[in-house]
Amino acid sequence: MSKRDYYEVLGVNRNASDTEIKKAYRKLAIQCHPDKNPGDHAAEERFKELSEAYAVLSDGQKRALYDQYGHAGVDQSGGFGFSSGGFGGTPFEDLFGDIFGDIFGTGRRSGRGGRRGDDLRYNLSIAFEEAAFGLETKIQLPRHQHCETCHGSGAKPGTSPVSCPSCSGTGQVRFQQGFFSLTRPCPDCQGEGKKVVDPCSNCHGTGLVRSKKNISLKIPAGIETGNRLKLTGEGEPGSQGGPPGDLYVVISVKDHPIFQREGNNVLCELPVSITQAALGCELEVPTLEGKVKLKIPAGTQSGKVFKLADKGIPVLQGYGRGDQLVVARVETPTKLTARQKELLEEFAREAGEDIHPMGTSFFDKVKELFG
Ligand SMILES: [Zn+2]
Ligand SMILES: [Zn+2]
Repeated sequence: MSKRDYYEVLGVNRNASDTEIKKAYRKLAIQCHPDKNPGDHAAEERFKELSEAYAVLSDGQKRALYDQYGHAGVDQSGGFGFSSGGFGGTPFEDLFGDIFGDIFGTGRRSGRGGRRGDDLRYNLSIAFEEAAFGLETKIQLPRHQHCETCHGSGAKPGTSPVSCPSCSGTGQVRFQQGFFSLTRPCPDCQGEGKKVVDPCSNCHGTGLVRSKKNISLKIPAGIETGNRLKLTGEGEPGSQGGPPGDLYVVISVKDHPIFQREGNNVLCELPVSITQAALGCELEVPTLEGKVKLKIPAGTQSGKVFKLADKGIPVLQGYGRGDQLVVARVETPTKLTARQKELLEEFAREAGEDIHPMGTSFFDKVKELFG
C-alpha cells in the first residue's frame, strides 16, 4: 500500500509554518483519537497516519529530508538524518544504499566509484530587510577536506592501503540467514574494501582533516524562514574518488521591531491619536524603503487598514511584490492634566449622542431589544 503525502495527511500546504502544522495536527488528532472513537478501526488507522506525519513534519531536519526525498528520506528503517553530531554530517548514503542495494543487489560501497561525501546543513540567520531584498554574503563553513600529506588515502606517504583480508577487497561479507545468503558491509574495513596498515600521522589514517571553507552565498529577494539553498558539491568530500556531498543552507529570518510579514505583504500598526483620527491628518509611515506620507481622513476608526501598494516583499524568484498594510490604532490618551480633563469634559457636554457612528447604532439595537 502506498503512503499518502504527509502534508496531505495533515491538510496543510508545503510551506506551512511549524505553528500551522502543530495546529492542524492537534485539531485532527482530537477528532480521530482512539479514546473518542472506540472500536472504529478506520479512525485508529487515521490516527496512526497522523502521528507518523506529524513526527516527521514537526522535526525540521526530518522535514527537510522528506521535502527532498519523500517517504524514502524518512523511512524508519533507513538510518539517516542530520545526526552525526559535532561536525554535522548527513549519511544520505545509507538511505540510497539501502534502497538501491535492495533493488539491484549491490552494496553501497562497492569500491568502484567510491563513496559519496555526506551532505551538510548550515543555519543562516538574516535580517528582515535582507530577506525582503536579498543579499550577497560569505559564510565560513566547518567541514573536512582531503589530507594533503597522504592525498586522502590515509596511508603514510610511501605506503598505500592494502586490500582488506576479511572481505578480499570487496567491502562486503556474506552471511547466512535461514535459507538466504545475504551481504552486509564488511565490519573490518567499514565496507571500504581497503585497510590502512601504516596510518598517515597528519590525519591519523582517516584521509581527512578539519578545515574551514569560505563560501559566497547569493540569497534571493523574498526568501522566508525555512527556505533552503542547495549548493551542490559543497558538502563533505567523498572517499576513494567518490563525489562530494551537498550543502544545504537553511534560512531563518529575524523578527523586525515594527514590521511583520504575511506572505509577501508587510504589516505594521500605526498609532493615531483621537484628535488626529477625528480631524484627519497626514502621518509619516515607515516602509522597507524609508518613510512615506499617509493621509488619515477625518473620522478614521481604529482598525482601519490602509494599503500602500507595492511596498511589500518581492515575490521569491518571480515578478512583482506584495503590499504594505497599515493598521490604524486609535489611542485613548492617558495621564491627562487638569486642563485637558476640563476640555474633554466640555467636549463631552457638547458632543451629544450622534457623533459616534458605531455607538449610535449599538445603542439603537439595545433600545430595540430592551425597549
Ligand atoms: Zn593523511
Ligand atoms: Zn573488509
